[in-house]
Amino acid sequence: MPYNSTNRQEIINDLSSQQYDILVIGGGITGAGVALDAVTRGFTVALVEMQDFAAGTSSRSTKLVHGGLRYLKNFELDIVRETGLERAVAYRNAPHLVRPEKMLLPLTENGSYGKWSTSFGLWLYDVLAGVKGSDKRKMLNRKQTLEKEPLLRDEEVIGSGYYAEYRTDDARLTIEVLKTATAKGVKGLNYLKVNELIYEKGEVCGTDCVDVLTNQTLTIKADYIVNATGPWVDMFRSQDISLNEKRIHLTKGVHIVVSHDKFPIRQSIYFDVGDGRMIFAIPREGKTYIGTTDTNYRGSKSNPKVTKEDVAYLLKAVDDMFPAISLESADVESSWAGLRPLIHEQGKDPSEISRGDEVFESESGLITIAGGKLTGYRLMAKKVLRLICERKGITRKCRTRRMRLTGGFQKPKEVPAYLKDVERKLKEINLDVSKAFYLVHRYGKQTDEILHIFKEKNFSNLVQAEAYFTIQHEAVVHLEDFFARRTSKLLFDVGHVAEEVGLVLPVFEDLLGWSETRCEEEKGEMRERLEGVGEFE
Ligand code: FAD
Repeated sequence: MPYNSTNRQEIINDLSSQQYDILVIGGGITGAGVALDAVTRGFTVALVEMQDFAAGTSSRSTKLVHGGLRYLKNFELDIVRETGLERAVAYRNAPHLVRPEKMLLPLTENGSYGKWSTSFGLWLYDVLAGVKGSDKRKMLNRKQTLEKEPLLRDEEVIGSGYYAEYRTDDARLTIEVLKTATAKGVKGLNYLKVNELIYEKGEVCGTDCVDVLTNQTLTIKADYIVNATGPWVDMFRSQDISLNEKRIHLTKGVHIVVSHDKFPIRQSIYFDVGDGRMIFAIPREGKTYIGTTDTNYRGSKSNPKVTKEDVAYLLKAVDDMFPAISLESADVESSWAGLRPLIHEQGKDPSEISRGDEVFESESGLITIAGGKLTGYRLMAKKVLRLICERKGITRKCRTRRMRLTGGFQKPKEVPAYLKDVERKLKEINLDVSKAFYLVHRYGKQTDEILHIFKEKNFSNLVQAEAYFTIQHEAVVHLEDFFARRTSKLLFDVGHVAEEVGLVLPVFEDLLGWSETRCEEEKGEMRERLEGVGEFE
């Protein structure tokens, strides 16, 4: 069954009429990973998400697939090793979405990192992550560093570390994991909220849900319920009366986006800030994004806000390290805030709390997976499935290590050749050749289908073919799903969104049967989003 928003009622009927082996609550990267692992071990699986897929933390990260160099500082060697090794797996399974990215770590006179400790740290980082050949870290001297990045505060730079990381599109990674899972039989739905867990003889056996779009209620029954709700996990643990001293500690992380012309760094940079924290500046598609902050958080989980203080903190960090750059709040074109669902550790500051993950099993059988990172999603899923197999007394091997995600390639080296091919095809139909990069690094091999739709439907603009494709295959329900999470245009191309809303609206109207009132509502919501782009609390 294709994974789309036009057969919603059919999926709801399936969800309410079948008994599943496993029900996953939460359609972020953790839930998606659990669903994929479970279905490929032969279980029947349902997954429900109360917002859009990836609308929680999984579209609000720094968008790196990384071992987390900073965790070395806290001696979290296991996390560094596990996630470091996992980078290569993620790359192999979706090389269009997870791409190698060299990172420059400048060392300064009064900075918190010395030459020898950085050299050792990066060496250890490479060893733990099994980095080989030319990807291994290099230590650069002052001259080499300033050649790589002339914008750095030159009087203070004493050298740098130059090492390998990977970048990604977090929301698209989540969607492709989900699409891979649904292609193998997972029944998943967004905008379906779990209201209550239900029990039989003290054991959790299902959930009462509501379709957020229609208010229709339904019950889903399953042998095992997996709570993969990230920042929300404690709500279900409370309901289950199984919340113990290991609670979720939420910290907020903010990123801001400016035009690359205003902050024209040559490559990704990971630099330290006066308070001992580290910040990334990453060039991407004509923009540079900067982040992140790390502050305790207690507000609304669905819509964490970027404040003036968050923006001032990040701008000051840039100002201190790049004196020739003068950014103001008005230069911020877009921004996002995400919540880290960390496992609380008494007396520790936000940046000191471990980024490790943990599985909790309650007396009622509720399985909760908490903490962790985007990068380690596959390993987190493995832990959950190992527990379920143990409880069932069966052995079923994990099959996700070598599992191409939808749109993926047999080998990473096929990507450049495919890119060239897409460039040729775009030229043939008189479209901007530079769009090839945008398409291939979002949709991978599915770009062929988007180009086919463009021609077949006689569209005037590629964005219409993207909208058509994502409604048909990626469960897009609202305009915002498309502009924020399927294409990330709201983050990295916000200047064109208003015009593109007009272009894609007829496609939504046609495929989803939107009334005039619905179109006006959706346009209004997008207008509000766009008006709020440069406003901070
Ligand atoms: P979420 O993505 O939040 O998913 C949980 C989902 O559950 C939500 O979508 C929510 O709507 C849903 N849900 C909640 N309640 C219900 C309900 N009642 N019914 C149905 N659904 C429900 N990791 C990296 O590897 N690399 C990075 O560069 C990186 N950078 C980060 C930067 C920041 C600022 C932050 C905050 C995190 C970063 N992380 C990074 C960590 C990573 O983003 C998270 O670990 C990961 O996205 C968490 O995914 P999740 O699926 O557990 O949670």
